[in-house]
Amino acid sequence: SSSIFAAVEMAPRDPILGLNEAFNADTRSHKVNLGVGVYYDDNGKIPLLAAVKAAEKARLEAMPPRGYQPIEGPASYTQAVQNLLLGADSELIAAGRVVTAQALGGTGALKIGGDFLKRLNPSAKVYISDPSWENHRALFEAAGFQVENYPYYDAATRGVNFAGMKDCLLGLDAGSVIILHACCHNPTGADLSDAQWAEVVEICRERGLVPFLDMAYQGFAEGIEPDAVAVRLFSASGLQFFVSSSFSKSFSLYGERVGALSIITASKEESGRVLSQLKRVIRTNYSNPPIHGGAVVAAVLSSTELRQMWEDELAGMRDRIRAMRSGLVDAIKAQNVAQDFSFVIQQRGMFSYTGLTAAQVERMKDEFGIYAVSTGRICLAALNSKNIGYVAEAIAQVVKG
Ligand code: PLP
Repeated sequence: SSSIFAAVEMAPRDPILGLNEAFNADTRSHKVNLGVGVYYDDNGKIPLLAAVKAAEKARLEAMPPRGYQPIEGPASYTQAVQNLLLGADSELIAAGRVVTAQALGGTGALKIGGDFLKRLNPSAKVYISDPSWENHRALFEAAGFQVENYPYYDAATRGVNFAGMKDCLLGLDAGSVIILHACCHNPTGADLSDAQWAEVVEICRERGLVPFLDMAYQGFAEGIEPDAVAVRLFSASGLQFFVSSSFSKSFSLYGERVGALSIITASKEESGRVLSQLKRVIRTNYSNPPIHGGAVVAAVLSSTELRQMWEDELAGMRDRIRAMRSGLVDAIKAQNVAQDFSFVIQQRGMFSYTGLTAAQVERMKDEFGIYAVSTGRICLAALNSKNIGYVAEAIAQVVKG
């Protein structure tokens, strides 16, 4: 008799995972992996923030019991999330118009948001930027939606094709769900300006679109407050919208899976009904969220001292990435490369679409042991004072032909 799994086909390999495997197998000591999606410090290590360490130490000493959490997570956590996203003085929070549930990272937030939306409006289409974080399409397709692209990246300017984006959004059916990267667009590093965000808000209002902001990198571009500009403009609009947020990057807590889904409703009464349905979605997925990561984040954000420590450490990560951006541009220029790379300084967050072709990326790997995604996306946080000169040299070599 044959196995019940006999017909199971091998799923296609995750391209980034394949890249990591090839990198790990490479024996060259000077190899560099620019394909990663995490922040490394100048020693090439994922940092454990001092604020996190302090909060964890206190938790370990207190040895709290491990009962079940509320389905939506504890108020200490969800209120801290709301304050960061909307501002502590937000009228929406005061009016009870914000529903927040702790989620398993930003990914988990997108997933419960997708499941909730599917029940709300099963025939809606979901629109993601072209290009987008690969998991956006997969997540919303898995939730049962048809997923389409809206124009976003403009390879010629290495910025946003805003005219194309607007044209597309203006033609969409009411009720369409629009996934927007709130800041630090992954993979391109190209963000909308504040004025462009204001236009997008008006288009969403005019066309009756459902905005879903994905905020995975708050604090990585300009700072906690300025990076929230899109969320704040939508809050001021009076519209209803969704926000998925994540502390994976801003707290360097990737593996603890700490994120949240926030839904802005029209009234406190509506919030009660929305939360009740969202809790059903959560209950049937994983019942209730894990304790540790959320408790650490809540402890840091509620202590004046630890919060300041965290803000300083977050600023340190942000400043280091920005230093790597300008450092890389200068170092490439110093190699007498005709091509201007200064756009890398304007791009925001962890990534840059460098404009390197798939063939150039291949040469970087073969000749230099430098690994990047074939789209030319590099992670600036994988650069450090020891490898930046070498990477600049390699880029200069491959663009010179
Ligand atoms: N959204 C975007 C745009 C991301 O880049 C990422 C992580 O890479 C996520 C969501 C998911 O974050 P998390 O690791 O918290 O699930």
